Amino acid sequence: MNGLMMQYPLTTNTIVEYGNRVFPHREIVTKLPNGAWHRYTYADMHTRTKKLAAALVRKLGVQPGDRVATFAFNGYQHLELYYAIPGIGAVCHTLNIRLAPDQLAYIANHAEDQVVFVDAPLLPLFEKIAPHVPGLRHCVLINAPAGVTTTLPGVVHYEDLIGDGSPDFAWPDLDENAACGLCYTSGTTGEPKGALYSHRSTYLHALTIMTPNAASVSSADTALLIVPQFHVMAWGFPFMCMLAGANMVMPGLHLQPAAIIDMLQRERVTVANGVPTIWLGVYEAMKQNPPAEKLSLRHYMVGGSALPASLMAAFEKDFDLEGLHAWGMTETSPLGTVARLQPVHAALPSDERLRIRATQGVEMPGVEVRVVGEDGTVVPRDGKTVGEIQVRGAWVIGGYYKSDNREAFTADGWFRTGDVGTLDPLGYMQITDRTKDLIKSGGEWISSVALESALMAHPQVKEATVIAIPHEKWIERPLACVVFAEGASVPDDELRRFLSPQFAVHQLPDVFVPVAEIPKTSVGKFDKKAVRRLYAAGKLGK
Ligand code: ADP
Repeated sequence: MNGLMMQYPLTTNTIVEYGNRVFPHREIVTKLPNGAWHRYTYADMHTRTKKLAAALVRKLGVQPGDRVATFAFNGYQHLELYYAIPGIGAVCHTLNIRLAPDQLAYIANHAEDQVVFVDAPLLPLFEKIAPHVPGLRHCVLINAPAGVTTTLPGVVHYEDLIGDGSPDFAWPDLDENAACGLCYTSGTTGEPKGALYSHRSTYLHALTIMTPNAASVSSADTALLIVPQFHVMAWGFPFMCMLAGANMVMPGLHLQPAAIIDMLQRERVTVANGVPTIWLGVYEAMKQNPPAEKLSLRHYMVGGSALPASLMAAFEKDFDLEGLHAWGMTETSPLGTVARLQPVHAALPSDERLRIRATQGVEMPGVEVRVVGEDGTVVPRDGKTVGEIQVRGAWVIGGYYKSDNREAFTADGWFRTGDVGTLDPLGYMQITDRTKDLIKSGGEWISSVALESALMAHPQVKEATVIAIPHEKWIERPLACVVFAEGASVPDDELRRFLSPQFAVHQLPDVFVPVAEIPKTSVGKFDKKAVRRLYAAGKLGK
């Protein structure tokens, strides 16, 4: 029997309407490509979003269900697109600008994008892709000067498009289970795959990450959205901030540490998100040039790769800034777990508290995590037994977009993350590796992530990544690539001595290769595939 509740679909339209009704004076601040600042209120944003929605329907002929692509940095126009596209029942497809052109063409064709919004600084890049996407009808230019020349088809300027649009546009009634956003995985394993989010999943994800046990954001906050809008929807922050009434600061293409520090100070930012590489850069820049006043930042949220405990500790010791570690994937919208301490941890020694905060954390409500052993059974939550991390939940995908591939899903409907790790009795998840990055040496597993984190705690080591290399006797052995601090160099023996308290002798790398830099993926993670390729080509190793 149905309950007697109203039907109130959880759509992104209700989010933007809520923001306009309750927080019309809150601000959205953007650093434009030319370095100028743009600022306006939620109320202004609401008006322009309605005009944009009207123009999408009336001028560009976008139909419900159509995918509309964006190829843009974080900014106010991209935010308007985040609401206008799903608002008319279409799907906001964010193209990851950092992928290779042939991958991007594959993705745009797979998604059947007919309309794309291109940020002016990215025009030359998109001009290389567009000829390989025959279905493109309209290219809308954001931030482009009036006289710009381009080879793109069907060009119109963003401001011209919305200029005479109607702010009275009425949102259509939408089903909360209708598609809202589309993101592709970066294809580190095989072809990129599409994760299609619904209005409902987007809403629930945003609402949950706002809560005190997660990002803890309210109308007293100003958030800096460093995670790109082209990477898993900026971790849902554009929706979460509007539900919270938080000011949003959009850095555009200005992602260098000095620019980020300037924004943190200038806008008195209280929360921010970013991958570890970003925070490492910010830490080093702050070390070199310490800010005159303590930042207003309550915490910086980190995910996408493991946050080294050493970085978290250094930020705290030197600048009194707190890191908040979270885990997720494109397939999980992305946030699944967050590492916050609980009252039960209050009496623990500080290094133990740090260790817990450096785990990937506990499930957010709405998501379930389990660890499954090689025999297919769920292993105990004992903090020791390692297995594959599997998840299910209200914002976890149940299948890939336009794909029959069920490899990533279990028979009982859980998503197989490809991550390997443990759960402790309180549910804190510790990722020890990704399935494909684990090292199996003489029948024993070695965690590349644990070695990397430990190495990066050495004061002379800036970055470190560990891969498996073939070995005649042990089948695989770990090889570490190390970026030393400027001018420094540490002998292998000393590195081994440094690691030895935490590892068995057979787990220590035989070889430490000094490198100038570690190749990174499109989203700033260590690109182990590229490191393996370098090794295979004889370009690594002593
Ligand atoms: P890709 O799979 O292409 O790298 P995602 O951005 O979806 O793209 O990455 C998800 C993966 O990133 C996870 O499966 C996990 O391996 C890794 N990851 C994300 N957050 C963390 C974290 N906090 N600690 C360790 N690994 C993480």
